[in-house]
Amino acid sequence: MTSEQRQFTARSQTFPVILVRKKVKNINLHVRSDGTLYVSAPARIPWDYIEAFLEKKEDFIIRAIAEMRERQQKFPMLTLSDGDTLYLAGHPYTLDVRLGLHNTIHRSGQTVFMELADDTLAMRQKLYHKLLQSLGKKLFPASLARMQPLFIDQALPDPVLKQRVMRSRWGSCMPLKGIVTMNTYLAIMPEEIIDHVMLHELCHFLQPNHSRHFYDAMTIRMPDWKERRQAMAKYLPYCV
Ligand SMILES: [Zn+2]
Repeated sequence: MTSEQRQFTARSQTFPVILVRKKVKNINLHVRSDGTLYVSAPARIPWDYIEAFLEKKEDFIIRAIAEMRERQQKFPMLTLSDGDTLYLAGHPYTLDVRLGLHNTIHRSGQTVFMELADDTLAMRQKLYHKLLQSLGKKLFPASLARMQPLFIDQALPDPVLKQRVMRSRWGSCMPLKGIVTMNTYLAIMPEEIIDHVMLHELCHFLQPNHSRHFYDAMTIRMPDWKERRQAMAKYLPYCV
């Protein structure tokens, strides 16, 4: 399998193309979320032929890209580009992306250094998640330790704490199994915001639903939880 970079122009818009040669029968096109056209084709098919194929798909490409842009305006996403601001535990860091021999990520001072051997959005995302996961491993148990004493009068199970990258919610709780799952992306937020999510999930051990009783249980233990929830907006967009 080999891969090469090309460009394709349609209606005065130019799109980057990643052309991968491999053992496939036909030319396959996939429009990626970053606007790149990912094409796989058999080894012997010349570029002219592939370009003609893309021209036939022009309407589809233009429409797919337009839809993607519209979606990204509604749900802004991080592109993880050099110079971007990333938040970690509520503190801003500047992302420094460079090409290198390895795929690594670490933070030092006010900077997150990302070294890429494979310069793809998927690899950037993988490294970013790795950094957040390692941070979450410290932040989430610490938050649980702060929130558990608020239930001293209740027979709360000692939950199994998990984390996962989630795109639709900040946390989840399975009261019967005793599992609390925190969204890995919460590692971008400061402790007090993580705490209100942790508290929310722990309150599900008392009330599995979102009834008035549930929110009463929240408010008794954390009167300002609504302000904490609103403060989350400052740290968005967060996801890739
Ligand atoms: Zn809930």
